[in-house]
Amino acid sequence: MTSPKQQEQPPQVAMLQLISGFWISRAVYVIAKLGIPDLLATGPKTSDELATATNTHSPSLFRLLRALVSVGVLHTGAEGRFENTPLSETLITDAPGSLRWFTVSELGQEHYPAWGNLMHSVKTGGIAFDDFFADDVWGYFHKNPEDAAVFNNSMSGMTAAVNNTLRSSYDFSKFNTVVDVGGGHGALITEILQGNPHTKGVLFDAPEVISGSRERLAAAGLSDRCEAIEGDFFKSVPAGGDAYVMKWILHDWNDELAIQILKNCREHLAPAGRLIIVDCVVPETNEPHFSKFIDLNMLVMTGGKERTAREFEELLSASGFKLLQVIPTEHPTSIIEAQPA
Ligand code: SAH
Repeated sequence: MTSPKQQEQPPQVAMLQLISGFWISRAVYVIAKLGIPDLLATGPKTSDELATATNTHSPSLFRLLRALVSVGVLHTGAEGRFENTPLSETLITDAPGSLRWFTVSELGQEHYPAWGNLMHSVKTGGIAFDDFFADDVWGYFHKNPEDAAVFNNSMSGMTAAVNNTLRSSYDFSKFNTVVDVGGGHGALITEILQGNPHTKGVLFDAPEVISGSRERLAAAGLSDRCEAIEGDFFKSVPAGGDAYVMKWILHDWNDELAIQILKNCREHLAPAGRLIIVDCVVPETNEPHFSKFIDLNMLVMTGGKERTAREFEELLSASGFKLLQVIPTEHPTSIIEAQPA
């Protein structure tokens, strides 16, 4: 993971940058949570003005912003006013593919304490989150709807970031009905249906997630073309699709549970139907790849994992599928296409 710049630095300097990475992460979290990039979107501001707008302690806020300027997240212009940079603009709430809620979710209430307990996972193979919170993450979200809303928004934001890539990398127009299994608030199925006016959709997720999605589907003008169905994908998935899409689902689960979900999809798929998995594919080489750290995120949060192409092939064949192709995208996630074996 060494950049050319790091290679020029003495190892202690380069290592200190890695070690202090979480200081930067948490500082980014605070501005995202406070909505500071949103405030700066209307023009440069002093730390006093920002402190008043966010109800924070101005001298401390100043120190936080100064530190973020030093790593290029923010910029100071005339009279020491703080300004957005292309980096902080990614945290603006309405930016296309906004990372604001991803930042707040990953570095806030539940992911961050779980990462603090990473040692537990490494020592025992258990789930750091469950050990820390005495509950699993889905139970936690059930009991903490505000954090759940942030998480669902974070998934929608991340989905928006990969939407274009997915749409241009795979032709969904050949399907009559696409079922999005664990589709969250429906950002992906919305994108697919808007790009393919003759296709129908089914959004399937847990009841509390589906209840938040109906309004969004209606707002996108898709109430007629997209059914929102609630349920548990370990029990069954809705029938009637000629394509079943699962984005960022299988990586949440260990092989045994992933196979259970896959078999439930297999049950409803005709021989010519397609299964489309959108997940990271871990390269078997040593190059830097986002998947290798998302994999740790899965280790601490859900007990799931990111898989290599070979591991996907094994998982699919254990569930009655044949892997057809792995389509890389510009994003760290790939499209894995399979059909009934
Ligand atoms: N596919 C979406 C969401 C991924 S997050 C996206 O890419 O944005 C994982 C999703 O799985 C969440 O929406 C969660 O509610 C859903 N999920 C978890 N357990 C489930 C279950 N047993 N049945 C149905 N959905 C479930």
